[in-house]
Amino acid sequence: MPVHLEPRDVSTDLENYNSVLIVSCPVCPPMCLAMQQNSPFIEFFKRGLKTGAFEDYIQSIRKPLEQRGVRTGTYAIHIPTPMMCLWTKWQRSRFLKRAKDYEAVLVLGCDSATYTAQEVLENTDCQVIQGMDMIGTTNATLQVRFPLTFNLGMHCVLKNGTVQQHETNVSGIREIEKMAS
Ligand code: SF4
Repeated sequence: MPVHLEPRDVSTDLENYNSVLIVSCPVCPPMCLAMQQNSPFIEFFKRGLKTGAFEDYIQSIRKPLEQRGVRTGTYAIHIPTPMMCLWTKWQRSRFLKRAKDYEAVLVLGCDSATYTAQEVLENTDCQVIQGMDMIGTTNATLQVRFPLTFNLGMHCVLKNGTVQQHETNVSGIREIEKMAS
């Protein structure tokens, strides 16, 4: 049940910081980026467990920051749970150690992921910025192809009692119908 997330333009939010740590939840965000760009979620023999569309998106945030001299870093943790909404105390403590050296943390995740980061960093000067908009929940079909390639065929986004159906093409997802549930 991935949360449906869409990238938010955060260039203005980040313009006054000299160091930014990009923390990502490695569950819903990569799924959503892969669906939105109609590209594989996992291509094991090409990228391991990383999602190409999501890695490229992170780089597209880092590059302009670094070009103007901002120190950037990335952070994700998979064990014991990759889901930021369920991080253990140990995971929260590891994140605190890493994040407190940065002026801002950009969260690639849902409202709950952002809440986790805010709670961990509440006694620091580090500012938390949410980098994705939470739209609803996604329904998709997992497609398995040889060799170890997984795609997600998106059907719809469920939001506030409505169903938004989608059609995926090479340029991304196009909304084709909206109806009451
Ligand atoms: S923190 Fe949000 S984005 Fe990450 S797994 Fe939980 S619901 Fe999904």
